[in-house]
Amino acid sequence: MPTHKGSCLCQAVQYEATVPEGGPSMSTVCHCQDCQKWSGSAFASNFILPATDLKLTKGAEGAEIKVYTITNTTSGKALMKYFCDTCGSALYNKSEVDDRIVAIASGTLDDPIDATAQSMTEFFCVNRRTWLKPLDGAKQTHKLFE
Ligand SMILES: [Zn+2]
Ligand SMILES: [Zn+2]
Repeated sequence: MPTHKGSCLCQAVQYEATVPEGGPSMSTVCHCQDCQKWSGSAFASNFILPATDLKLTKGAEGAEIKVYTITNTTSGKALMKYFCDTCGSALYNKSEVDDRIVAIASGTLDDPIDATAQSMTEFFCVNRRTWLKPLDGAKQTHKLFE
């Protein structure tokens, strides 16, 4: 399977992600307020991989990579948001719901991954900015993992 390189804005954190041919099986766009604040943007765009397919090649958790844990989630399970300690770039999320998967912030990719709208799910659409249209062909839900 092809590997894709990614990094934060200041390059203190670099990684390689092993992504199936044809793109990740699931990509997400999330319009919830936590994702808006985390990304500093109107929505977060992540791609989902088995945690073992994300390899840090520069930087480490607890050193260059810091974590902020959200405990008041809808599932009640902790959600860990990882970010660069130097430049603040959002990097990836892990959840107590399933610690075998990782949601990587797609803006950190050095080269974009091909993904079709059909492999995408939009979450918390109820909170979508009024100036945004639904993605053509993407599954639309109003909650996480509905
Ligand atoms: Zn950085
Ligand atoms: Zn969200």
